[in-house]
Amino acid sequence: MERKTIKDLLTDYKTILHHDITVMGWVRAFRSKRFIALNDGSTIDNIQVVVDFENFDENLIKNINTASSIKVSGELVESQGAGQSVEIIAKKIELLGDNFFEELQSTILQPKKHSLEKLREQAHLRFRTNLFGAVFRVRSAISFAIHQFFNQNQFFYLNTPLITGADAEGAGEMFGVTAFDLDQIPKDENGDIDYTQDFFGKKTNLTVSGQLEAETAAMGLGRVYTFGPTFRAENSNTTRHLAEFWMVEPEVAFNNLEDNIDLAENFLKYVIQYVLEHCKTDLQFLDKRFAEEQKQKPEKDRAKEGLIEKLENIVKKRFKRVSYTEAIEILMNSKENKKGKFQFPVESWGADLQSEHERYLVEKHFGCPVVLFDYPKEIKAFYMRLNDDGKTVAAMDVLFSGIGEIIGGSQREERIDVLRQKMKEMNVDEEELWWYIDTRKFGSVPHAGFGLGLERLVLFVTGMSNIRDVIPFPRTPKNAEF
Ligand code: ATP
Ligand code: MN
Repeated sequence: MERKTIKDLLTDYKTILHHDITVMGWVRAFRSKRFIALNDGSTIDNIQVVVDFENFDENLIKNINTASSIKVSGELVESQGAGQSVEIIAKKIELLGDNFFEELQSTILQPKKHSLEKLREQAHLRFRTNLFGAVFRVRSAISFAIHQFFNQNQFFYLNTPLITGADAEGAGEMFGVTAFDLDQIPKDENGDIDYTQDFFGKKTNLTVSGQLEAETAAMGLGRVYTFGPTFRAENSNTTRHLAEFWMVEPEVAFNNLEDNIDLAENFLKYVIQYVLEHCKTDLQFLDKRFAEEQKQKPEKDRAKEGLIEKLENIVKKRFKRVSYTEAIEILMNSKENKKGKFQFPVESWGADLQSEHERYLVEKHFGCPVVLFDYPKEIKAFYMRLNDDGKTVAAMDVLFSGIGEIIGGSQREERIDVLRQKMKEMNVDEEELWWYIDTRKFGSVPHAGFGLGLERLVLFVTGMSNIRDVIPFPRTPKNAEF
């Protein structure tokens, strides 16, 4: 007898109807000791198993509870009841493992404790819930779509190192990597740590971005992208920041800023369209949950669109492209700013934009995704291309509702003299980045790229509100359990 997934049974049952089949899964509910709702993770939907308890051992039936793992064989038939297409008439049931049902009931299934925060502490049961099942199936689909998009557009998948010798990337605070015995760290004659005695013979860190390495590869392979873990030791306990997250970074030779924005827009639309097509049942569930959550909020804080509607609009609408200078005008003249409603008032050109400003532009002012470009050079990284005005750089940020910045990128400075000058001004060590500067020596070309935080996109697509709930094992300040 061939074992099927529940997804197989529910979507593809025509040829196996009235055949005997076997499924394995976890019991979601056992109604009237007659109807088992069984789930195996392949889909959000359960299959109903009809149990004629007279045909089974009494002890077995008694031991089947919520969360029990079972193997069921029986005939697949058209369902009598509403709400499902097929069900299984059980002929044989086997309990697969222990189920500490009393412990489950007395601690874990307490409704009060069933909050998202509590579930974060239950590594295993979290995946068993409808909500997290949906979130992580969608996350997987998003990752797949990302690879597919780049593959279809002739990009090469590049793996950049997690341990980096460059601490000048300037994207945020870094975690050090060392093999030193921390109780006996070697010091030099000045009393400073002697990194020459460490594993790599120099100070090393966990990467904050694979961009600089990706640039070296783009200078030969043309179109590359990275997709891997990224680390930031920023102590910002927000709902949008993780200490370990997954970043996608395309880098393209011969692209300018406009090409880069086009790429970002096409890329986001492709991935969201993919999820709309391939994750229908999960999205329907998340859409309902999202609507329920909005109802709990005060009217003024509610999202204007439903979740699926929001995703469809992303695919349909053109992103609004606005220069930083225009955006600052809008923000300075906004009612919110004049009435002191922003936590960080916008006072003058040159100010760095906070999430609240980004969200104002997207949610209140334009009502669609916004791409800001040409930022003041002082608030952006050294490698961004200096514009002819001498004041701004060819940077671009893509802003989404509810999130703020989802993508940050730029055209890179390909002119070696300008790059060196910028590094000097911004105190970036030229010696350490000799290999990076070299890319501007031998056939330097215009090029551009960006970084997308995978979890910010998953957050947006699933309508969840805390970034910790869209990564399987969140790493945040004071938290590295499991
Ligand atoms: P922010 O200003 O929101 O902290 P950033 O400007 O530091 O972000 P970049 O260095 O431009 O971010 O990184 C590129 C992308 O990586 C961001 O657009 C965002 O999607 C994501 N990202 C950055 N930091 C984090 C983090 N701590 N946790 C999760 N995603 C992040
Ligand atoms: Mn950024």
